[in-house]
Amino acid sequence: MNLRGRIIEGRGGLYTVRDTKGQSYVLRAKNRFRREGIRPLVGDEVLFTPGQLEEHGWLEEILPRRSVSLRPPVANITQLIITLASEPPPDLMLADKLLVFAFRQDIKALMVINKSDLDAALPLKMQEAYAPAGVQVLALSALKGSGLETLRAAMKGHLNCFAGQSGVGKSTLVSALTGLDLETGAVSHRTRRGRQTTRHISLIDRQGLEVLDTPGFSLLELPTQLEPERLREVYPEFLPLQPFCRFEVCLHDQEPGCAVEQALEAGRLNSGRVERYRQLLAEQKEKWSTRYD
Ligand code: GDP
Ligand code: ZN
Repeated sequence: MNLRGRIIEGRGGLYTVRDTKGQSYVLRAKNRFRREGIRPLVGDEVLFTPGQLEEHGWLEEILPRRSVSLRPPVANITQLIITLASEPPPDLMLADKLLVFAFRQDIKALMVINKSDLDAALPLKMQEAYAPAGVQVLALSALKGSGLETLRAAMKGHLNCFAGQSGVGKSTLVSALTGLDLETGAVSHRTRRGRQTTRHISLIDRQGLEVLDTPGFSLLELPTQLEPERLREVYPEFLPLQPFCRFEVCLHDQEPGCAVEQALEAGRLNSGRVERYRQLLAEQKEKWSTRYD
């Protein structure tokens, strides 16, 4: 008999799956998955046969994925919460790469600026840079508890995943939102253990929120298969300008008659976003040209 559920954890070849009633099962994947090169991921919707008594059951089938990431290995995220703070200093290249990742898979992106108790100006700056890309920016303080109810409301109905540099407060936020006591950076510092290596991915379903807890989205490389020509498609603020570029295949780099360049010079586009786009474009061109090496 096949039941349906979602993988909430995977360790040492054993998968914990929760069904719609909240019941958990421990399963092993059928050999077929390995043969076919399919790796079950946390977040996957699956069909399975429960085990008898103490025996583990069997993972039978993985249902079509809504989105997928292999590094970190997670499936079916519907909302990526890009987390920034004034400390550590924001890595906006990472933020932009995360947006590219999200937009390519039709994952909703939300930006939260944590530690606003330390710096109230950063949320406004980020709002200016990212609102034209259609990204909602929320100011928060996990420490003071401010802005959490707005975030909670924005998370409802999504399979959420926090992403961003280490130290911005992702674990603190997940703990504050779900009531789960996650190991935070402060603790692992004392125990001298690398948190990245001691934590694994799990799907938390608590207090009406679904959150994938993964430390993995703190570094991100755009895939080699992303054609340089397609990068501009995931910059929503460029799209209305594109028809006005002289060349139809304008990459908004150094081409004459580029409407993006004109908007930039007129101060109608965020210069950081355009600069980082051009840097990413150069990186993708390089990767693309050496993709068979
Ligand atoms: P992670 O690496 O992104 O998971 O970050 P952590 O949750 O481990 O937090 C890193 C540090 O930032 C910890 O010392 C937290 O106590 C601190 N922190 C988290 N949120 C806030 C906040 O809103 N304000 C301030 N001032 N510090 C915070
Ligand atoms: Zn152009």
